[in-house]
Amino acid sequence: MPYISGKQMIQKAWQNGYGIGAFSAHNAETIAAILEAAEAEQAPVMIQIGQKVISVMDLEPMKAMVDAFMEKITVPVAIHLDHSRSFEQTMRAARCGFQSLMFDGSHLEFDENVRITRDVANVASALGIGMEGEIGKIGGTEDDISVDEKDALITTCDEAQRFVDGTGVDYLAVSIGTAHGVYKQEPKLAFGRLKEIRDEIQKPIVLHGGSGVPDDQVREAISLGVAKINVDTELRQAFTQGVNEILQANPDEVTLAVSLGRGREVMRDKVVEKIRLFGSQGKAADFNSVSHSN
Ligand code: 13P
Repeated sequence: MPYISGKQMIQKAWQNGYGIGAFSAHNAETIAAILEAAEAEQAPVMIQIGQKVISVMDLEPMKAMVDAFMEKITVPVAIHLDHSRSFEQTMRAARCGFQSLMFDGSHLEFDENVRITRDVANVASALGIGMEGEIGKIGGTEDDISVDEKDALITTCDEAQRFVDGTGVDYLAVSIGTAHGVYKQEPKLAFGRLKEIRDEIQKPIVLHGGSGVPDDQVREAISLGVAKINVDTELRQAFTQGVNEILQANPDEVTLAVSLGRGREVMRDKVVEKIRLFGSQGKAADFNSVSHSN
């Protein structure tokens, strides 16, 4: 089972100028789609378990399901807890063997965000796993916010530096103009700010809301220090498109293996596309000498 600490995975990508795809999983077929693509591309990959799937399936069963698929996998994989807003939940994820944790205290006062993130980072560091914190607000594309308000949400260098110093996170999610979900207008990333933050904090940066960001902007973000790119919506769209293809051709098709199986294939192709965009294809070899975790 080639699980690898998220810290080692992201650090290596950052040092070598490529991005790790952090792909959200929602069920067995989506886990299989991500792992199949990673294996085909010989890419290190993160499987993200987010709050929606946790509310339906819970955390431990999702971890167990990924474990079950790992038997045949040879590429490095890290399971990442996405957007946790609870210290207790991050500890549960650590206990059941996640290799990377995110505490998202971006809705809290700065000092409170620092305090809880630092507590989680201390545990992650003791366990040798990766830790992500967030500073600045990454909204949803459905949030109705004006351009001025958008500018105000962009992470400042000063807060990024104070946050990293105060918490000891391994990688930092910042707000530079992306949002979760489907964009109504093409996003324009704040590259100037990204570069300043990179120069200031000297740590890998995480890009949330990776779906729908034009390819050239993704490449530029990676060249400016982004080493983890979160993708969820585009994968769910691909999966749903595959399922719909089957149901439109035959509305009476109730063999789930057929419809979900097609969803898996279409999503796998989308993951392959993203892996190539992020430049992580073939990079599994970078980890040959890295020790594996549980
Ligand atoms: P998208 O759904 O926009 O791809 O964002 C995913 C994400 O950032 C999860 O944390």
